[in-house]
Amino acid sequence: MSIEDLLKYFGTNATVGLDETSVQTIRKRYGKNELAKALPVPVWRKLLAQFQELVIWILIIAAIIAGVMGEWVDTVAILAIVVLNAMLGYFQEEKAGRALAALRAMSSPMARVLRSGATSMVPAGDLVPGDIIQLEAGDNVPADSRLIETFGVSAQEASLTGESMPVTKDASIDLAQNTGLADRSNSIFLGTVIASGKARAVVTATGMQSEIGRIAGMLRQDEYEPTPLQRRLAELGRILVVVCLVLVSGIFTIQYSRGGELMETMLVAVSLAVAAVPEGLPAVVTIALALGLQRMVKRNALIRRLPSVETLGSVTVICTDKTGTLTRNEMTVREVWTGDGHYLVSGAGYEPHGEFHLENPRRVVSPHEYPDLLKAITIAAICNSATIVPGQHSRSWQVIGDPTEGALLVMALKAGIDPAAIPRQVKLEIPFDSDRKAMSVILREQDRMVMYSKGAPEVILDKCTKELRQGQVTDLGDDRKREIQLKNSEMASRALRVLAFAYREEPNQHVGQFHETDLVFAGIAGMIDPPRDEVKKAVRECHIAGIRPVMITGDHPATALAIGRELEIATTDGRAVTGLEIDELSDEQLANQVEQIAIFARVSAAHKLRIVKAWKKRGQVVAMTGDGVNDAPAVKAADIGIAMGITGTDVTREAADMVLTDDNFTSIVSAVREGRGIFDNIQKFVHYLLACNAGEVMLMLAAAILGLPLPLLAIQILWINLVTDGLPALALAMEPPERDIMQRKPRPPRETVITWYRGCRILYHGSLICLSAFVGFWWVLNNDPANLDMARSVAFAIMAFSQLAFAMVCRSHRYTLPQLGLFSNYWLFVAFAASGLLQFGVLTIPFAQHVFDIVPVTPQIWLWVIGLSLVPATVIELAKIVFHLVRKIERK
Ligand code: ATP
Repeated sequence: MSIEDLLKYFGTNATVGLDETSVQTIRKRYGKNELAKALPVPVWRKLLAQFQELVIWILIIAAIIAGVMGEWVDTVAILAIVVLNAMLGYFQEEKAGRALAALRAMSSPMARVLRSGATSMVPAGDLVPGDIIQLEAGDNVPADSRLIETFGVSAQEASLTGESMPVTKDASIDLAQNTGLADRSNSIFLGTVIASGKARAVVTATGMQSEIGRIAGMLRQDEYEPTPLQRRLAELGRILVVVCLVLVSGIFTIQYSRGGELMETMLVAVSLAVAAVPEGLPAVVTIALALGLQRMVKRNALIRRLPSVETLGSVTVICTDKTGTLTRNEMTVREVWTGDGHYLVSGAGYEPHGEFHLENPRRVVSPHEYPDLLKAITIAAICNSATIVPGQHSRSWQVIGDPTEGALLVMALKAGIDPAAIPRQVKLEIPFDSDRKAMSVILREQDRMVMYSKGAPEVILDKCTKELRQGQVTDLGDDRKREIQLKNSEMASRALRVLAFAYREEPNQHVGQFHETDLVFAGIAGMIDPPRDEVKKAVRECHIAGIRPVMITGDHPATALAIGRELEIATTDGRAVTGLEIDELSDEQLANQVEQIAIFARVSAAHKLRIVKAWKKRGQVVAMTGDGVNDAPAVKAADIGIAMGITGTDVTREAADMVLTDDNFTSIVSAVREGRGIFDNIQKFVHYLLACNAGEVMLMLAAAILGLPLPLLAIQILWINLVTDGLPALALAMEPPERDIMQRKPRPPRETVITWYRGCRILYHGSLICLSAFVGFWWVLNNDPANLDMARSVAFAIMAFSQLAFAMVCRSHRYTLPQLGLFSNYWLFVAFAASGLLQFGVLTIPFAQHVFDIVPVTPQIWLWVIGLSLVPATVIELAKIVFHLVRKIERK
């Protein structure tokens, strides 16, 4: 269909778009712009998955056999605990899944749509056929659409047609009805990406009616891939299963051969196997990761790939953009320099009120009296896609579009030039591209074409052969170019961001393509973009944390250096290395020098990729920010690719591991802090769970070896596993990051969760728990060998309570509980209290005593129980104090 017919068909208008009522009506007919999702796994399946372990089935069968032989109380209790355990596992997994789904929903795609005459960003799922959408290089195409207007558009359609190169798109082409998908050059399709240019289009098909919807049918469920840590833990889990089974079989063989009752010994052995294997670990790790991710979202960092959370803690270099990340991206033009003078511009922010002052002699002037100034301002206003609108507060103004262009627009408005009031017809736009560092528009003015260009001064000057001086067009020689460059550098060294303006009447045209050549130079403007207040502190934090911040910017080296010095990224004698200088270096040379360079300026996306690779060659773990469509390869190559949530393109966001929702450098540092904290917490609860389980196995093994009866019964073991593993481990995942977490060096990326040192500590802590329960058990038995039930009750109580107290000291390997603050992890306190009460209930409520084979203990024994339960935690805390003292003496 022709564009007109199509617009008529959908009852829409290319300059106004649909109104809200029509959108509602159309949506009722076509549904949401979503691909059907794969059906979720039913609850019963997920519950059943909790019973996948062979040992659990052996336990269930053993319990049933015990019941048949008359021990039905045991059977019911064991089955109940097994079901409770499965439910706990199910809820943990559900929570982990839901947290991840919520995070995934946050990164759902958006689309720029024109409705009722106003442009806004809406979730792509809300689009309906007939909507007018606007697209730029790097955008995902949000629905099948017919192009209405195109400026240099090409699309990457590999996902749909298999064509690996971007295909050129042109709105003005009419095609035959039977044109194949790959040849429909006037349309763009959902699931593809705009590789270059700028376009406007009308949506023709959404969701399942789109081409990809028809082929794919179902949306691939985006699964979070397991992190290296999760993989290593799964491996560890498998090893532990084998180790446990060997030990447990040993215990069974010894006890049975010594005349233990078959059923009881077997039940105990299998229960021990069930309890000792930390089957809840993967879910708790996922929860810890997901909770950490949610905390990061609150600090404006959205993680797209789970493994990045771990890598974050190892980051040693952060390569960051300048504009908007280190600076506020709130620009104000301060100076304009043209052939007829140097002017200062007053006014603050985006408020379009201010005056022009001639610098020498200092006086207020009207730009309309100075033709060169007027020309420069007019170009700045016309070669501009931004708009300024009043903000929510009185006297506040907001830019829609690029802040650099917003600042130029504000300058024009201060001069009384409103581009909206200039009658013009844009024939073509050569959009801004951060590799080209320039932008042009070609207008039809009366009966001639005029090109207006702006961009980085070196780039624009390169394209100029003439200059406007006091209203006259004169030749621009090399000396004068040097003079302008000098002025540019002088302004840049005062941290101003400088742009040059040029124009040309009847521009050079070759086969319909306009070229930026033989332009007339009109002037330069310098704008301030102050550093963000909080960044200086974050940069210092990086230095202390052993992380190198590096600035990589498209801006002028002098501007970059001025900002870099102010933020202490560069030392006072440091210098900025430019893209041109990088071109002179081989990869080898760059890798050798990269550690000495803190500022890279006037770089393109290709340089960014080389810089990332050079750092990686030095064995560093690199985080790298990017926004433009060309940045995607560098972002992908970095260990942590970071995309900008506000100014970034969809392509870069998809290549990234992390998206900054506020584009702020400080959020990267917060994310690193959280990343370190999460890894720390995972280590803490893994340590806790394994040490507790080791304690239980050791106790049973010691009794078997020493020829004593079994210190714990099957049901007691299962119960301890339920109360001590579930809640406290989860609560340890909520531990806030330790205060010195950013004073430590980054964690070596290849460091395993359980180093030999940590493994030994786990066994040592396990043996402390084992020892206190064993002492209690042996002491009662020694006093009265006939009172085995009492001895077991004491061992059961100490085993549970000592593990709970141990959870408290697992909060930190360095800091004691008073140093951490008893209530600073509220959840652990709640878990401690809840689990403690449950255990106390089992020990004192007559019905529970009956089920768990408990005999009531006297107050005197209770004192022993409490004292012995506190032994492991006390020994560990005392060791921390001794360690601190030794460190203090060493430092002196
Ligand atoms: P960073 O990479 O730190 O974000 P940047 O924003 O300065 O820095 P680019 O956006 O790539 O990097 O801009 C590079 C140069 O291009 C700028 O220094 C400026 O001279 C020029 N420039 C920026 N925006 C525009 C624009 N909208 N039109 C024309 N030229 C521009």
